[in-house]
Amino acid sequence: MTTAHADRTTIYRGAAVFTGADSPPAEALVVRGDRLLHVGSEVGAREAAGAGAEVVELSGGLVVPGFVDAHTHVLMTGDALTRVHLRDAPDLGTIQRRIADWAAANPEAPRVLGQGWLFSAVPDGRPTRAMLDAVCPDRPVYLDANDYHSVWVNSRALEELGITRDTADPVGGTIARDPVTGEPTGHIDETAMSEIVWPFLAAQRTDADRDRHFDAAMTAYASNGITGVIDMAVDEHGLAAMARAQAAGRLPVRIVGHWFMDRPGDTAQHLAQVATAARLAQEHRSPRLRMAGVKFVVDGVIDGCTAALTAPYANGAAPEPIWDLETLAPAVVAADAAGLQIAVHAIGDQAARIALDALEAAVDRNGDRPRRHRIEHLEYVDPADVPRLGRLGITASMQPVHADPAVQDNWRAMLGDDRVERGYAWPEFAETGARLAFGTDAPTAPHSPLRNLYIAATRRSALDPSLPPNIPRFALPLADALRHATYDAAWSCTAEHERGVLSPGRLADFAVLDRNPFVDGVDSLLEARVTRTVTGGVPTYCGG
Ligand SMILES: [Zn+2]
Repeated sequence: MTTAHADRTTIYRGAAVFTGADSPPAEALVVRGDRLLHVGSEVGAREAAGAGAEVVELSGGLVVPGFVDAHTHVLMTGDALTRVHLRDAPDLGTIQRRIADWAAANPEAPRVLGQGWLFSAVPDGRPTRAMLDAVCPDRPVYLDANDYHSVWVNSRALEELGITRDTADPVGGTIARDPVTGEPTGHIDETAMSEIVWPFLAAQRTDADRDRHFDAAMTAYASNGITGVIDMAVDEHGLAAMARAQAAGRLPVRIVGHWFMDRPGDTAQHLAQVATAARLAQEHRSPRLRMAGVKFVVDGVIDGCTAALTAPYANGAAPEPIWDLETLAPAVVAADAAGLQIAVHAIGDQAARIALDALEAAVDRNGDRPRRHRIEHLEYVDPADVPRLGRLGITASMQPVHADPAVQDNWRAMLGDDRVERGYAWPEFAETGARLAFGTDAPTAPHSPLRNLYIAATRRSALDPSLPPNIPRFALPLADALRHATYDAAWSCTAEHERGVLSPGRLADFAVLDRNPFVDGVDSLLEARVTRTVTGGVPTYCGG
């Protein structure tokens, strides 16, 4: 990546421009250095640019402010992108062929890592190590299931993990075994995966791996029109990789980070983590890489019956939140006092209430001060709590792709009552004055902002548009959805004065789509492609 010469001037013309501002429609942009010099008429563009400006001809389509993914996981996304992709593998033969091909193409890789396989692709839904040994006997193979709740491994992997017939199942997880011999069959789920397999693999990961993952994520984001992301779970290894990339000029996407808060349960330890986050926020404050705050995960997910609800699930489950109010509030109050932005993962209505109570406690304790806190996901919120979002100035950080009708059947079954008609109530949140910021939560969902926009504007499935929409009254006008994915996402990380709107003086962060969904219809988002991405005046992607 090269840096823009401070005086270089470029005119972009030939496409409609969605500026995101209340200005008349624009025909052209002029970029000088890293900023927009002019956004408006073509005649004005030529005048502003002066002689000698480069002209970039766009052949139709739509220019939009650069997308900001308001909730993502950079290194995990890159890790997922560099694995063998199995999500669209329909059968065992295809899975085996891809494993064998990848192994042959990467002879130096110590392991074969894959992700996304579906139970429906495996005979009887029972993956075995023998199926993988048949195509890769010499190197360990690890394949994450599509839902990240289990992993399928071969014999070499079991060997290096030290898992034998004598290894006990941890509480909450299973090492599948042959009913006759008792030998592990190669399928490991839940805590058996998260407590045995993941820590083992994490310990093998090198800085070189992390750099590779980081670069893969940057390339993927840039090629999807993304000029900024907010990483919702930064740890020391991730931050080190980001800082290395920044020092080497490998940062085509602006990153704002939230430090992940572990929950050992001891207030002094929680406060020490807040202090670490405050120090990191002082150390990392450049326009390309900035640490903004902390992230708490108060509950799990509805699909796994681990999100905290005020009334039980259809099956009677009533899980406790990960952070209760007593544990959460002191850390939230301290983070607020330190001027950090607070993000709270809250999917169920009890978790949302705990988050709101803790944030309200911070306001009561610390008084009037600038603050911009946020709640992540908000999949089901008690109607009584919805107005509190606006009153407390909360950013509702939403991932439309999680509301895709194709992934709703189990979600609805777990709740099982009229709560399902209040899922992902975006317009209700916005009406209270809460700011909606859109993200994708990649790699749990695809990182394309265009799919997100399609689902937001239609409540239909980007995976199977023929499915009935998911509570269509919660669909948003396309222009609003686009603002939530650009300006409001920039607002959510206090970057709205620099980004999110195309107007003179702001950073030249924008993307070009090959079609204009305002003219071609919202459905065209499913086929639309990003043809060009520019961050700070520098092209970061230029493709077909
Ligand atoms: Zn996340």
